[in-house]
Amino acid sequence: MAPTRSMLAGTKWQRHCQEPESWGGQCDNGRRQSPIDLAQAAAVRGEFAPFFFSNYKLPIKQAKLTNTGHSVQIANRDPAVTIQGGGLGGRFVLDQMHFHWGSEHTIDSARYGLELHLVHHDTRYASLEEAAAARNGVAVLGVLFHVSAQPNMHIDVILDTAADIRNEPGKEALLKGKLAPHYLMPANRSTYYRYEGSLTTPACAESVIWTVFTDSVGVSLEQIEQFKAIHDQNGRELLNNFRSLQPLNARALVYATEWDRQENSFAEVPRLHALLIGLVGLLIATSKCLY
Ligand SMILES: [Zn+2]
Repeated sequence: MAPTRSMLAGTKWQRHCQEPESWGGQCDNGRRQSPIDLAQAAAVRGEFAPFFFSNYKLPIKQAKLTNTGHSVQIANRDPAVTIQGGGLGGRFVLDQMHFHWGSEHTIDSARYGLELHLVHHDTRYASLEEAAAARNGVAVLGVLFHVSAQPNMHIDVILDTAADIRNEPGKEALLKGKLAPHYLMPANRSTYYRYEGSLTTPACAESVIWTVFTDSVGVSLEQIEQFKAIHDQNGRELLNNFRSLQPLNARALVYATEWDRQENSFAEVPRLHALLIGLVGLLIATSKCLY
């Protein structure tokens, strides 16, 4: 995830094409860093209560997009846009959304074209900055985007606005259309990888409960290229802005899905057959009576 402006104050950092980065402090010494490769073989089965999204279908009020010099970010100031459930253990409010091109997380070593981070903080804390100092104080939802033939109309709203400020890092602009977080997420939000990790930008605080949905969303190749046209603080094109993969170390990686529902849906097939056989039997019995 990207830091807020105050987190960036006094720090000078940038991403290099040559990995790994050397950002110092916890970024270099931490044992619970992000992103990671989400490998099915390394994961354990999990099942959590469903996510409950509040006000995600409403367009973000007075949405502003910022060229942060390392991403494009949309701020949310409405405290009613929250998530609960999903094993998070509390209510988390949406602070901001931003993108990485290509994806930060990989699934079984496969990188995606784009990754959206929806950054939330636990409402027990007054702000994202305060929550970032506490273990599990921050919850980030990661959405992966695969390349598709059709452009994504919701991404277009972001790109249309970003085009105006692509050469002006630090500048913000009012979003040129309506944008609700719901429409940037996959329809299936019950299957995902879960692990405890960090922010992926300095100072890499290890305070994040990560959720990366396994179902991806479509975006066109041309749209991905438009993200690359955004300029950084040095006036250079931001060709990519993902951090290198970090080791899992002694952490549990959980692959969460609705196992019981899956099993039940298989179990329903024989039940349905039994019902049909019963109905046919009843019809035969009835028809016999008619003759
Ligand atoms: Zn991010």
